[in-house]
Parts: sequence; structure tokens; C-alpha cells
Amino acid sequence: MCQTVITNMLDASFRCDRCSAQAFRMYALLSTDRCPDGELFFCVHHANQYHNALEPLTEFLADESYRLYEGIKDDHWVEGSPVKN
Ligand SMILES: [Zn+2]
Repeated sequence: MCQTVITNMLDASFRCDRCSAQAFRMYALLSTDRCPDGELFFCVHHANQYHNALEPLTEFLADESYRLYEGIKDDHWVEGSPVKN
């Protein structure tokens, strides 16, 4: 139901709806009578916190959390880091 797509559309003007940090995930919600089309923006911390509740309500998830790791070079790689470039 929820389609996750890696995108490159969120710039620094998109802020987390919960804490105002830079948003790296956008949840485009399914349209229902109770919830007309809507979008929620979250930083990775809050996206992870609410993901399980939001996923059934989400039609499309734009995920740009990979950008958090773009500056990490191989010589700074440590075991257990989520992304290795
Ligand atoms: Zn947040």
C-alpha cells in the first residue's frame, strides 16, 4: 500500500511538522473522508517514531534520509553505520 520512493525534492525549506528540524521524509496520505489529501513532513527521528502508525495511511513516502550520510567518507566509516558510501 505504502510506496517508498527515494527522491531529491526536499530542500532545507521543508521542516519537520513535529520539531521544525529539516524534513527528510514526506508522507503523502491516502485520501479518505476523514482525511482529505494531506502531506506530513518529518525529520528522520520523528519519521521513525511515527512510521508504523502512518504507513497504513500513506500512499507515497518520499525518503531522502540517505542525504544525511552523503558527507561520510569511507575513511570515516565505522561498523554499524546505516549507510556505506
Ligand atoms: Zn522532527
